Amino acid sequence: MIIGVLKCTEENLVGLVPKVVSKYTKGDYEVLVESGAGAASNYSDDMYEEVGAKIAPRAEVLAQADILLTSTGIEVDELSKTKQSAIIVGKFNGRVESELLTALKQAEAKAFSLDLLPRSSIAQSMDVLSSLASLSGYKAVVLAADHFGGYLPMMTTSAGTIPPAKVMVLGAGVAGLQAIATAKRLGAMVEAFDVRSAVKEEVESLGAKFIEVEGAAESASAGGYAIEQSEEYIAKQKELIHQTAMKADIVITTANIPGRKAPLLIEEKTVRAMKAGSVIVDMATASGGNVALAQDNQTVEVEGVKIIGDTKLYNQMGPQSSLVYSNNIFNFLTFMFKEGAENIPFENEIIANTLLKVEQDEAVSA
Ligand code: NAD
Repeated sequence: MIIGVLKCTEENLVGLVPKVVSKYTKGDYEVLVESGAGAASNYSDDMYEEVGAKIAPRAEVLAQADILLTSTGIEVDELSKTKQSAIIVGKFNGRVESELLTALKQAEAKAFSLDLLPRSSIAQSMDVLSSLASLSGYKAVVLAADHFGGYLPMMTTSAGTIPPAKVMVLGAGVAGLQAIATAKRLGAMVEAFDVRSAVKEEVESLGAKFIEVEGAAESASAGGYAIEQSEEYIAKQKELIHQTAMKADIVITTANIPGRKAPLLIEEKTVRAMKAGSVIVDMATASGGNVALAQDNQTVEVEGVKIIGDTKLYNQMGPQSSLVYSNNIFNFLTFMFKEGAENIPFENEIIANTLLKVEQDEAVSA
């Protein structure tokens, strides 16, 4: 079988990095890489050739591959140029209601979107959302620390003691927990908040303080995700966040509710009440944002407070993001083909959830 690796121009992510090529070639696979596919992640064509992959123009990769690997880098009019039996692996669901997503669902080829994986223990090694969120959570803190005109750890000098910076993290899922751990490693005092009370222990085990708001609604059927909250709860939560934000030097927000607009956690009055020189990183701007005045892919400044809006901070770490992404894809394909290429377990939750098919839309609208 031929594994084809496509270049993606939208993100600095490639579905197969040179280090992972041998995992395929020591099996029954040949690897065909579109020229320049890894360039945005600092992987040159030469690096692929050195590990036994072949470099080819895009049209050849599209036409010859049995399995096409990408991030989001395939166009609607290219779907008719692949083998009819091709398998396409990427992460397309972020492009909700896009022409591409519709075309992938209708295509003859079978497209799998790894951002639809169930968040189960068995799927953990394939979980691209977790891999990328973890990298992004780290980067959010490093970026904020760079923009913050101060020092994060406590510093004792002959001229006196500088107290540690105060960091508040909102949403303690995968990205939030990594942000907490990173801020702690840099010596900051960290407070964190999440509607899921189950994360309190994890937050505290990282040495951060959990901001408690009583009365959160949780649902066992939400697959570990957060659900929408009552107005009374939201009002209490906003007040507590307002008070904590006024004292904070850095605020990182990561709160998302799958399929819904992100909750607004920092209102404009809170932004304006924050200290000049403080920095906010809103990692939910693609789904509406957690912070009033935040703009996706932009940095805005409001009365001396910088607000960075970026949901894809992993893009700034292309080499590592692509490495974990490549491993996630390899693990997914290994799982899919464990009984052989002719026996894909379509009824399995991992395969059924990720396969893009027209019935998914019908199920949602029913
Ligand atoms: P996410 O990106 O959907 O949301 C980030 C965080 O924001 C979540 O912790 C969520 O509870 C929180 N949040 C939502 N609304 C909020 C609000 N109004 N105020 C404050 N916080 C709010 O979440 P994620 O990081 O993708 O993780 C979702 C869940 O899946 C978590 O329980 C996580 O532990 C679990 N998970 C499981 C696996 C696995 O078992 N394989 C892998 C990854 C994640």
